[in-house]
Amino acid sequence: MEDTIFDKILRKEIPSDIVYEDDVVLAFRDINPQAPTHVLVIPKEHHPDAAALAAEAPQIAADVLREAQAVADEEKLESYRIVFNTGSGAGQTVWHAHTHVLGGRGLEWPPG
Ligand code: AMP
Repeated sequence: MEDTIFDKILRKEIPSDIVYEDDVVLAFRDINPQAPTHVLVIPKEHHPDAAALAAEAPQIAADVLREAQAVADEEKLESYRIVFNTGSGAGQTVWHAHTHVLGGRGLEWPPG
């Protein structure tokens, strides 16, 4: 199993700005925020990307989405974007499934 920076964050080997944690998911602020709110929600169980997470653990995928909504509620975001970059061509750089919760500014469509 690949050991990514998010696995190290999960084990508290490197610090992160955690906004929520339970037995299934961890939510923490992105170190390089692209919007006033930029929170990453990750499953504690290791899956390399969103596609693998959905196929191998659909209940945990649902828990990640539920937490993304909870982050948006907590941050009082009227509009927000949930992004799963899947594959290097789409900008994925960390091979532990995660979603970005982005909000607090206008978001253009289509994205770059
Ligand atoms: P992606 O490019 O979709 O794989 O997203 C990976 C995200 O992880 C990027 O937005 C990075 O800024 C973020 N990131 C990388 N290292 C850390 C870290 N130590 N703490 C918080 N966020 C990080």
